[in-house]
Amino acid sequence: MNDCIFCKIINGEIPSKTIHEDEFLKVMLDINPKTNGHLLVLPKKHYENLFDIEDDILEKIIAYTKEIYPTLKEKLNCTGLTLVNNNGHGQDVKHFHLHLIPRYDGEKIDMEACDNKDDIEKIYNKLMD
Ligand code: 5GP
Ligand code: ZN
Repeated sequence: MNDCIFCKIINGEIPSKTIHEDEFLKVMLDINPKTNGHLLVLPKKHYENLFDIEDDILEKIIAYTKEIYPTLKEKLNCTGLTLVNNNGHGQDVKHFHLHLIPRYDGEKIDMEACDNKDDIEKIYNKLMD
C-alpha cells in the first residue's frame, strides 16, 4: 500500500522507535502515547483491520503480547496492560495494529488525554536497555 504510513515505517522510509522486529511483526512506541510505554504491534503485511487479517498472524500478535508483558512489568513497573484495537470508525491508520497500553497503580487514565508522561526517548532507552 503506497500511501500507508505504517507500511512506510515497516519499509524503513519513515523512522520509528522499534523495540522488536521479526519476519512477521514490527513493534514500536506510539508517537503520541496514552501512557508510558504505549506500543503498537503491527503485522508487516498490510491488512486493513481485524476483519481481513489472517488468524495465524493474529495469533502471533497475541503471543508477542503475552511474551513482552513480563518485560514491561520489569522495566517500566507497570501493573496492567490494556489492549485496544480500532476498526473502521475510530481507526486513524488503516493498517491493522494492536495498541498495548501499560497501566500503572494509582493512575486514573483518561484514554483521551494522559498527563505525567515521560519523554518517548527515555522510555525507548528503558525498554532497549
Ligand atoms: P488508531 O486510531 O488508528 O487506532 O491509532 C493510530 C495510532 O498510531 C495513534 O495512537 C497514533 O499516535 C499512532 N501513530 C500515527 N502516526 C504514527 C507514526 O508515524 N509513528 C508512530 N510511532 N505512531 C504513529
Ligand atoms: Zn500498510
